[in-house]
Amino acid sequence: MELSIRDQIEIIRGNIAKAALTSGRRAADVRLMAVTKTVDDHRIREAISAGVDILGENYVQEGKRKIEQMGKSVEWHMIGHLQTNKAKYAVRLFDMIHSLDRMALAVELDKRSRLAGCVTRVLIEVNISGEETKRGVPLQEAIPLVREVSALENLSIQGLMTMPPWFDDPEEARPCFAALRVLRDRIIAERIAHVEMKELSMGMSQDYRVAVEEGATIVRIGRSIFGERPHP
Ligand SMILES: *Cc1c(COP(=O)(O)O)cnc(C)c1O
Repeated sequence: MELSIRDQIEIIRGNIAKAALTSGRRAADVRLMAVTKTVDDHRIREAISAGVDILGENYVQEGKRKIEQMGKSVEWHMIGHLQTNKAKYAVRLFDMIHSLDRMALAVELDKRSRLAGCVTRVLIEVNISGEETKRGVPLQEAIPLVREVSALENLSIQGLMTMPPWFDDPEEARPCFAALRVLRDRIIAERIAHVEMKELSMGMSQDYRVAVEEGATIVRIGRSIFGERPHP
């Protein structure tokens, strides 16, 4: 029998709690984001009714339609690559942007936030592995980028995000997650004004347990909740 979305969410919450406890953390310090790219509205509503309160979208257009349809009773986060020319929509739609990886985008998000009269919460996306196909600021450039972005008054840095390369064995992703945590601790030690390092957004369907053990505060899960996505 196929498990319902509610059942899957229960199982994932249990796994998160277990991983948190085995690493001396509190389950309440880890939030579950349901990643809803390509997912039908009624299935998203099922996840919301099962208590999920953060939804993650990869595309501005798709997110816009869903947010207008479903409203803002939950938080909507932007997790996909963001083109600079979409910044003006993104700041009005999303409660947090996880994919800030370059200064040109930061400048545009800051300007559009000022025009919209808001301060936008952002995470700096870091390319830990150095793999060329992955997005994110290279590890060595992360702290300089945090410093530069911290000077922009309409952006508020809340933490870091990463997406490791695909591994069959999730243990292989552990060094990437640990490296993001170490980077966070280095940034905290730098005491940069206006920078908060509360959030580590890391861990997906195949590796979220390992990510929680290494300090994730937000795990981003799609397939384990909703099933496989259609291939484009
Ligand atoms: C699609 C996506 C996820 C979720 O991946 P699953 O394997 O479906 O859990 C998480 N983060 C980002 C940035 C994504 O694009």
